[in-house]
Amino acid sequence: MAFINDNYLKLPGSYLFAEIARRVSKFKEDHPAADIIRLGIGDVTRPLPEAVIKGLHTAVDEMADARTFRGYGPEQGYAFLIEKIIATDYAPLGVTLDVDEIFVSDGSKSDVGNIQEIFGVDNVVAITDPVYPVYLDTNVMAGRTGELAGGKFAGVTYLTCNAENNFTPELPEERADIIYLCFPNNPTGTTLPKEELKKWVDYAKANGSVILYDAAYEAYIQEPGIPHSIYEIEGAKEVAIEFRTFSKNAGFTGTRCAFTVVPKTVMAATKDGGQYPLNKLWNRRQTTKFNGVPYIIQRGAEAVYTPEGQRQIKELIDYYMVNAKTIREGLQSIGLDVFGGVNAPYIWLKTPKGYDSWSFFDKLLTEVNIVGTPGAGFGPAGEGYFRLTAFGSQESTQEAIDRIKTKLSL
Ligand SMILES: *Cc1c(COP(=O)(O)O)cnc(C)c1O
Repeated sequence: MAFINDNYLKLPGSYLFAEIARRVSKFKEDHPAADIIRLGIGDVTRPLPEAVIKGLHTAVDEMADARTFRGYGPEQGYAFLIEKIIATDYAPLGVTLDVDEIFVSDGSKSDVGNIQEIFGVDNVVAITDPVYPVYLDTNVMAGRTGELAGGKFAGVTYLTCNAENNFTPELPEERADIIYLCFPNNPTGTTLPKEELKKWVDYAKANGSVILYDAAYEAYIQEPGIPHSIYEIEGAKEVAIEFRTFSKNAGFTGTRCAFTVVPKTVMAATKDGGQYPLNKLWNRRQTTKFNGVPYIIQRGAEAVYTPEGQRQIKELIDYYMVNAKTIREGLQSIGLDVFGGVNAPYIWLKTPKGYDSWSFFDKLLTEVNIVGTPGAGFGPAGEGYFRLTAFGSQESTQEAIDRIKTKLSL
């Protein structure tokens, strides 16, 4: 009989969202008239920008004509898109990149999940806690961890981020080979200023580590002085891979387009003591296992970089950031400790005294019929916190906050 990959059995079931769904549907059964507002979603809700729709339509028509039809494209993405990414997202930051340092993909989830394949299984992984679960789970699947015990996987370095350290991870005492950083952060909505990010780049340079930098929420940054790209930090092009996506800035969660930057100067060690560029390995991985993002979709993504596209995605982000402000200020006005929501669509709050993540979930659901996400679902350091998101409509977000302000017993 064939054997399974036993590492998969180390993972607990996808408990978080299943458990939320179970509690919400039980509540609905018992209270059929309740008007439930969901502020737990990590998905955008506004339609694609007009410029993107236009780009998609034009490309669809091209596919209907033998003269402009396209079959397989370059696995790494079309140059027309990559050149605009470089010119619009990086050149203004003073970051120069070559076309073959950017790999267009069907999503940052796939890329942050797949990237660990190009690293040996014995690398020590460091992950901020709480965080987007994909980084940890994919390393568990690959066998880069021990068993789960007391909420943590053996062999993984958890970098605690909480109110006590202002959500700023401390450099690990033990050596870390691969470091996952996500800023602006999901779920905490907090950011890392340049001088803090520089500490990590310096650490990576001193220790031969590689930083995997997830910048999915870069477009939500409103304040000056916060890096939009890790390559704004001197030396980062030698130690960092950066992930970007059109999901959150342009509403592509269902359309699927993202990209990963692997500078040719990022090296990792070979067994015989040499150095090897990760760009070559990622290129090999992608050309072997991936056949590129659809031409039509890449034309839609290209349209994000037109002047209209840039204006329209800004409007989209501004729309959600009105919600972020509504939530943040509303919760602060009733005395709750609130983090994030200034440079990110996530608001992270400390559960009131006497409540852990799940009991606060139940309280919000039963008292004001609002669904959020218990912080404990994002890692052990998320216990005692709770996530609300700005991705709802402005009307329902305002209604939710009005209810919390007037009806929640604190
Ligand atoms: C939403 C999100 C992504 C984006 O995933 P896609 O696959 O590009 O839709 C990546 N990282 C984080 C932290 C996210 O929250």
